[in-house]
Amino acid sequence: MASPAFPSLRITADALIPQGSFAEAQAAFLRPHPELVADLTRLLREKNTGVVAHFYMDPELQGVLSASDWPHVHVSDSLAMADRAIAMAEQGVRTIAVLGVDFMSENVRAMLDASGFRHIPVYRVASEPIGCSLAESAEAQAYGAYLMEASETPHSLHVVYINTSLITKAKAHALVPTITCTSSNVVQTVLQAATQVPDGHVWFGPDTYMGQNLAEIFRTMSEMTDRQIRAVHRQHDQASIRALLSRFHYFEQGTCIVHHMFGREVVDKVREHYPDAFVTAHLEVPGEMFALGLEAQRRGEGVVGSTSNILSFVLGKADEAIARGESSELRFVLGTEAGMITPIVRQVQDKLRDYASEGGPEISAEVIFPVASEAIAQAPESGLGIVPGVAAGEGCSTAGGCATCPYMKMNSLRALIDLLERIDNEPDSNLVPFEPRKYVQEISGRTAADLGGEPILHMRAFQREGRLPDALVDDVLTRGQTPAETGP
Ligand code: SF4
Repeated sequence: MASPAFPSLRITADALIPQGSFAEAQAAFLRPHPELVADLTRLLREKNTGVVAHFYMDPELQGVLSASDWPHVHVSDSLAMADRAIAMAEQGVRTIAVLGVDFMSENVRAMLDASGFRHIPVYRVASEPIGCSLAESAEAQAYGAYLMEASETPHSLHVVYINTSLITKAKAHALVPTITCTSSNVVQTVLQAATQVPDGHVWFGPDTYMGQNLAEIFRTMSEMTDRQIRAVHRQHDQASIRALLSRFHYFEQGTCIVHHMFGREVVDKVREHYPDAFVTAHLEVPGEMFALGLEAQRRGEGVVGSTSNILSFVLGKADEAIARGESSELRFVLGTEAGMITPIVRQVQDKLRDYASEGGPEISAEVIFPVASEAIAQAPESGLGIVPGVAAGEGCSTAGGCATCPYMKMNSLRALIDLLERIDNEPDSNLVPFEPRKYVQEISGRTAADLGGEPILHMRAFQREGRLPDALVDDVLTRGQTPAETGP
């Protein structure tokens, strides 16, 4: 039999069956050594440290953490990380370790400060910066020029992706009224903005693929019936969506190096070799993969959205298969970072186990990693034979998709253990390099941390109330007014 185009991991009620060396490495990490789990759990308990981690984190570390019974461990998308850190502080943890990239730890720090937990130390697991290609593209001069154009356009709102630093958010907000968004709420944020400021301009950034994909979503919506459009946002119709099209702008030079890998070559292979598989695609992926995911979504056989949307879709399909009560083999193409496999395996396997214990017929879920063979490094000394990521460079290959984030992988198990061993209950100047940047400089008379936190608070208000806060809308309507509008 010909070997499959991509590695995969088949999940059954009681087994993980890897296909290909990349998947073998992922599966090995999902069965962590009990001694490692016990050591890490003891340290977390001793230091009373809560851990908030991103889905894309190193799979070895995710495997160990998810096997630990320490209650203050949470793995999620970036937005929920700050919420859970606040909940952990309320429950009495002494310190928080953030496993992610630097804008995530900065966000956790800012949200803890805003919630009255300035006294809780927050640590990253590296003393050097943990960057992010996407966040850095919003710190480039080109982004400043993009915002300048927005600031000169009346009634402009800047919708900035949460995956950016606090300083980016602060500087942007000083120039153009700004609200943050995630891949889960960005569509609704733009649509809502267009209802509250009907003649307004929306400037999205920095992710170019996401911007292109959003433009495509709105273009597709502009051809839908009013009834179909109202199902997406009840205050919109075809005329209002068409009016939005020319006033929706996106930055054209911002890329996540991981999602960039899901290009034409990967998509062609998916179409050829996996025509019957469900397709999941993150909103940050390039247009070809996005189109494939959207096509599948229209048929009810795929999803385009955030990491949480992808997880919900996979779990929903497992629920449907269980409800049918027939033996079945589900297949999913994972159109996002490979670290997502850990929560998928844990949660799908829990469902399959419960079902099997009731005597149901066998159901399995195979997760396919669209990973090029060039993106696998040989590592005979590791005991695994291979590790995800290419052997040289930053860990990704333009040869066809490594699907693992080299920045996230700086959060290794060793690094977390080293940090925990150093944490004491007294302030320790040796740990200062592990703290998130604080941004004490002032912009427009406010600290950067305070000003940069405001777009996040606007987003939270939107999530709570279902409408953009009046203060933000007033800001949009009054800033950047033309002289004619401001009157004599
Ligand atoms: S996957 Fe890595 S490079 Fe891409 S947005 Fe996330 S942290 Fe940044």
